[in-house]
Amino acid sequence: MNIGVLGAGQLGRMLALAGYPLGNRFTFLDTTGNPSAGIGDVMVDTDQQHLTEFLSKVDLVTYEFEHLPVPLVQAIEEHKPVHPSSEAIRVCQNRAEEKALFDRLAIPTPAYRLVESAEALEAAVRELGTPVVAKSVTDGYDGKGQAVIKDPANAAEAWRSINHPRLIVEAFVDFVREVSIIAVRGRDGQVVFYPMAENLHVDGILRYSLAPMPDLDAAVQQTADEYIRALLDELDYVGVLTLELFQARDGSLLANEMAPRVHNSGHWTMDGAVTSQFENHLRAIQGLPLGDTAARMPSCMVNVIGQEGEPARLLEIEDAHLHRYGKGERPGRKLAHVNLMAPTHEALVEKVRACAALLPGAPAPRFSFE
Ligand code: AMP
Repeated sequence: MNIGVLGAGQLGRMLALAGYPLGNRFTFLDTTGNPSAGIGDVMVDTDQQHLTEFLSKVDLVTYEFEHLPVPLVQAIEEHKPVHPSSEAIRVCQNRAEEKALFDRLAIPTPAYRLVESAEALEAAVRELGTPVVAKSVTDGYDGKGQAVIKDPANAAEAWRSINHPRLIVEAFVDFVREVSIIAVRGRDGQVVFYPMAENLHVDGILRYSLAPMPDLDAAVQQTADEYIRALLDELDYVGVLTLELFQARDGSLLANEMAPRVHNSGHWTMDGAVTSQFENHLRAIQGLPLGDTAARMPSCMVNVIGQEGEPARLLEIEDAHLHRYGKGERPGRKLAHVNLMAPTHEALVEKVRACAALLPGAPAPRFSFE
């Protein structure tokens, strides 16, 4: 089966790496003019002239990037199966739609308001109480298009700096940790769940994901499973879905956002789970049985950002697995990740520190359970 992928970055590359053993071939459609997949058949289409050719090559279509024009995906759906559907893209690329869906399914979120002017923003800040986080409703990722507001007097400045016609304003959550749940739904509606991961972000960019968490109450995992199952069923979703959440001091979960695709917080599954998120996504969209999501061992993913460091030194760490994306160094750019595994969480955290020490500019890893 030839799988068409919209987007041609590292997520697409890792999908292909997981798909070759299954006998898949891959054709990527890149609309940015800057593909980095470095694998498969990459079609660069900056002027929307190559869609027909792309569709003639592929049996089904998936994507690794959700900020795509919905009408484009709907047009593709007229010709080839698209998983997940354009409806999932439509909801996930808009924070207001996403929050409305969470509300409808009774999935708790931080208190929020939608605003369309600097004045309304200031009023929302007063109503919610400081601090708040203001985010553009569309086009934001990795913490871009956001501002933390600590005083209503700063609302006008934040409005100007985000420079977007519609914002969502959220109460700032005093979380114990950020976590994510990744689940996979097959074409037959079967759902499997990965163990939740603890995620450390710095400046809005993910730096570390650790799973399974040593102190996670089974009831909390079950709650997260229920939330994501509700989303998957509601959207009649096929493939991998990621839900990012905040965990509060009392253990409760608040949904932050979701991504209709394989996710950086699931990269640990490439080496740390029986079946990786990439393989399971491909199994799901092709109607194949889903693979076991269990963790083999405590695992941690360390992102390599901006500068590569010395790959040979990283590989000196026992049971370290380096995944490089073939991209050039640039500040803030995701270039690679290292998956580390150890029989105990104590030994794992030690390895994570050793790994971080080898990466220029890596923040100190600090996990909630330490
Ligand atoms: P997002 O793009 O919504 O995932 O936001 C990027 C990062 O900003 C999150 O991973 C959090 O670290 C932080 N953040 C976003 N929203 C909130 C919030 N309501 N309360 C506290 N921190 C937040």
